Amino acid sequence: MGQYVAPIRDMQFVLHEFLKVEDQLKELPAHAETDADIINQVLEEGAKFTSEVLFPLNHSGDREGCHHDAQAKTVTTPKGYKEAYKQYVDGGWAALACDPEFGGQGLPVVLNNSFYEMLNSSNQAWTMYPGLSHGAYECLKEHGTDEQKRLYLPKLVSGEWTGTMCLTEPHCGTDLGLLRSKAIPNEDGSWTITGNKIFISAGEHDMSENILHLVLARVPDAPEGSKGISLFLVPKFLPNQDGTVGERNPIFCGAIEEKMGIHGNSTCQMNLDGAKGWIIGQPNKGLNAMFVFMNAARLGVGMQSLGLTEVAYQNALVYAKDRLQMRSLSGVKAPDKPADPIIVHPDVRRMLLTAKAYAEGARAFSSYVALQIDRELGHPDEEVRKEAADEVALLTPIIKAFITDNAWVATSEAMQVYGGHGYISEWGMEQYVRDARINLIYEGTNTIQSLDLLGRKILMDNGAKLRKFGEKVRAFVEENGTDEAMSEFVTPLGELGEKVGKLTMEIGMKAFQNQDEVGAAAVPYLRVVGHLVYSYFFAQMAKIALEKKDSGDKFYEAKLQTTRFYFARLYPETAMLIRQARSGAANLMALDADLF
Ligand SMILES: Cc1cc2nc3c(=O)[nH]c(=O)nc-3n(C[C@H](O)[C@H](O)[C@H](O)COP(=O)(O)OP(=O)(O)OC[C@H]3O[C@@H](n4cnc5c(N)ncnc54)[C@H](O)[C@@H]3O)c2cc1C
Repeated sequence: MGQYVAPIRDMQFVLHEFLKVEDQLKELPAHAETDADIINQVLEEGAKFTSEVLFPLNHSGDREGCHHDAQAKTVTTPKGYKEAYKQYVDGGWAALACDPEFGGQGLPVVLNNSFYEMLNSSNQAWTMYPGLSHGAYECLKEHGTDEQKRLYLPKLVSGEWTGTMCLTEPHCGTDLGLLRSKAIPNEDGSWTITGNKIFISAGEHDMSENILHLVLARVPDAPEGSKGISLFLVPKFLPNQDGTVGERNPIFCGAIEEKMGIHGNSTCQMNLDGAKGWIIGQPNKGLNAMFVFMNAARLGVGMQSLGLTEVAYQNALVYAKDRLQMRSLSGVKAPDKPADPIIVHPDVRRMLLTAKAYAEGARAFSSYVALQIDRELGHPDEEVRKEAADEVALLTPIIKAFITDNAWVATSEAMQVYGGHGYISEWGMEQYVRDARINLIYEGTNTIQSLDLLGRKILMDNGAKLRKFGEKVRAFVEENGTDEAMSEFVTPLGELGEKVGKLTMEIGMKAFQNQDEVGAAAVPYLRVVGHLVYSYFFAQMAKIALEKKDSGDKFYEAKLQTTRFYFARLYPETAMLIRQARSGAANLMALDADLF
């Protein structure tokens, strides 16, 4: 069932040559010792684990799905999932980027990021179990009490216990202000929680000893809307003080959803029937605490889509070199064969290069953001920490929405390379398309990400964070503007930077008159800024490739050609997107709802 080989060469290029990660990490006391050997060793071991243990379970897990036993109230994951999870825990993978104080290995986020790309390429549905646990770890670490940290963090870090996020209810997904689950205080400081949650990923399963649910609910007399939401920790089994599991808590899976993809992940309806929980942070400040989890998950969803883009590309490439159909328009290329391999056809190359460029762009982009998170968490200079945090805040909705939108295109193009065989499940390509589709929806739909970027991160901030990023772009353009070899990349980058500045001002002015202008422009706007980010990173990678192209290593030639493809074929959609974003709200709002 296809193949997955971790793209270690490109990962090493991004980490060592593009980001110069070793030098960057030397500035961070916690990671100053993380050298190239450690990084390369983790990449190689990670590649083995993901391709040998997880990838073989991807297709079978999709076919089999999860089983819910309504009587026993249990969920069984597909064959092999549990055993693979044990190997993951025994190998110490859950602890990779966690704090040594709680048993973690203390490696940087930027390295964990590459490992997560591999996990997701191998098996997105499986990876959601540990992925959500890592989000729960980050949330508890930042907002938990010392006692909660002592009791729960070592279990999440080791992977013995997993985590979930329980936000969504039948009547509220995007608008969490509508949620109805209730929490009543008990005399001993705990809370009794009642309510129904839906679509809870990894809500019930058989892979870990205990599950820690992070649940949003309302306390008595809470204000209406999102200002009245609190966050609770609700374990499946109540823990004893020594860390062993005790009594079963009444938080049960009522059913699992039948869905389009990620069949190996249990998407559960969870009923809380007087379950015992403990508050995380302050009453009515739950969304604030949950945002730590949500931001981690948004980056995680971007990585899911990068993973799928890469594995879909790899398989389509093998197929395109093997499948013989028709002859090349410019003359026979394989005279010894009855037809040429389809990779000779320009449009097959367009499809492959689309996936390749989106994978390489996303890899550079997400690794850059992960490194900024390391700086935000661990740089000794407060000013640097703040700058890094601002940049991560600006780029997070772009990671979530741009990478996932592109992966939907890329997996679909990769499937198309197979012709009819792509549509037949035994080849595995249609699974990537199905799995990729959810990434545009959960963790805040891509529309919500666009509103977050344009409304909250840019306009409400008077464009300050965007300007900072723009200054970096401008400095790069100025520095390389006179280099003739770079002009094919630097010129469009500089032009787009200017256009984004003007477009932002224009939408901001219109929004003073009518806030619907923000909603009408946000989605194409995010894609335009996404292309600004990719142009900036591709141009930097091209510079390195130009410097090394005579080294004899063909990798640099490939990088240069992929960058040329990006600027020639993907970047130009910015012209159309800018027109759409400028076209205003009237063409969307004028039609009376009754006349649709
Ligand atoms: C497989 C799967 C796994 C999931 N896992 C989890 C999980 O682990 N935990 C959890 O809590 N939830 C989970 N979810 C829920 C998911 O996060 C929500 O489905 C998602 O946030 C959208 O909410 P909704 O489905 O209620 O859609 P709605 O909020 O009803 O939105 C419907 C449409 O309206 C649009 N819309 C809504 N408001 C606006 C607005 N202001 N402006 C413009 N457009 C708007 C949306 O973009 C969307 O297109 C999961 C969902 C699925 C399908």
